[in-house]
Amino acid sequence: MPLYEYRCDACGRTFEELRSSSEADAAIECPSCESRRTARKLSTFASGAGSSGSAKGGSSCGTRFT
Ligand SMILES: [Zn+2]
Repeated sequence: MPLYEYRCDACGRTFEELRSSSEADAAIECPSCESRRTARKLSTFASGAGSSGSAKGGSSCGTRFT
């Protein structure tokens, strides 16, 4: 099941959810403020540009060096 990233327009929080692709665009509540004003972001793998501190020890499947 793919991991999707969402952003809350109400509080600005970004969060990730594991959802099936058929659910990816369905409304989802912000886990922080429970607003449904959330938007799915394009899934960016290892984009390093995010400032959300969700590092959980690192998954080993993200190496894509060329
Ligand atoms: Zn929120």
